[in-house]
Amino acid sequence: MIYLDHHATTPCDSRVVSAMLPYFTEHFGNPASVTHPFGKRAAAALEDSRIDVARFFGVSPSEIFFTAGATESNNIALNLAGHIITSAIEHRSVIAPAERGGNVTLLTPDRQGFVSPEQIRDALRDDTKLVSIEAANGEIGTLQPIGEIGALCRERGVLFHSDMTQAVGKVPLDLTNVDLASMSAHKLYGPKGIGALFVRRGVHVTPLAVGGGQEKGLRSGTVNVPAVVGFAAALKIRAEEMADEAVRLTAIRNELWDRLVAEVDGASVNGPRDLRLPGNLNVSFDGIDAEALILALRRFALSSGSACSSGERGPSRVLTAIGVGEAAAMGSIRIGLGKSNTPGEAAMLVDDLKRSVARLRRITVA
Ligand code: PMP
Repeated sequence: MIYLDHHATTPCDSRVVSAMLPYFTEHFGNPASVTHPFGKRAAAALEDSRIDVARFFGVSPSEIFFTAGATESNNIALNLAGHIITSAIEHRSVIAPAERGGNVTLLTPDRQGFVSPEQIRDALRDDTKLVSIEAANGEIGTLQPIGEIGALCRERGVLFHSDMTQAVGKVPLDLTNVDLASMSAHKLYGPKGIGALFVRRGVHVTPLAVGGGQEKGLRSGTVNVPAVVGFAAALKIRAEEMADEAVRLTAIRNELWDRLVAEVDGASVNGPRDLRLPGNLNVSFDGIDAEALILALRRFALSSGSACSSGERGPSRVLTAIGVGEAAAMGSIRIGLGKSNTPGEAAMLVDDLKRSVARLRRITVA
């Protein structure tokens, strides 16, 4: 089976697994145990990893806090009182905590999923505390203008948070105008259940859990050292491989795009052609049920809408928010290319899609 769901998660790179292994067995100490070499060794690995993660983003190690992943990072970043501005196509782990305070403006992006700095400007109020806009969308791949949005927020004295989960290790990111950023290692060929929150020096956040005091009190609980080591190792690999892979995946993606639109009746692409995650394609097939189509495409692991919300039936809330009609949204699949995928696999997908769409249309008509 060919895996085409790299936005949901990625396989852990074997080099990452090798880097992690000694920290389960030989170097198993608790990094808080400063009284003996076992603890000191774990603490050194933790701090070395923090330096590596910080270096990837060009920030200070003191600004990197390890968490259980982007869900937790988003929840910590949005754990504040006051007016919050975010968009309707953010991940649920941003929208849910934003809505909890009951003082949120949800912006509607344009037809390609872009949120503009002008929209943010119009929504800013005297009591606005934070703006949260993702770097990249996990369903339609849209890369948001976070540099401009961050600059505007800074000018207005409002905190800017960005959920960078889908973008880290895929496209270059500049944290210059960002105050808070969330990420998860498993989206970049690292392990699951580990991530980070970048907190710019001087920015105050309120922890969710208290008691242990780890991560300078921001995230209590014994740190998962093997996972942290894996996260840092995965980022190092991404720093080396990201640029070439982006070119390669963009070429495969655009070929898929052109062929599907040209060769499959009623196929249309959701999201932008440029300013898009290299490995992302989202296609609607007119009159087709995406679940049936995915079942028919036996050789491929694909998603309809976001894996995080599958289980929810009904049209994708991201597609609905950008104005895709219900029928087209119900007939949409997400293709998430990753480093193992080849042009030959993409060609196989086009063949299978052509056949399956034609067959499903015949069944529907009959
Ligand atoms: N934000 C975005 C944009 C995501 O795609 C995801 C994962 N689908 C998350 C946050 C949550 O990440 P995790 O499940 O690793 O906490």
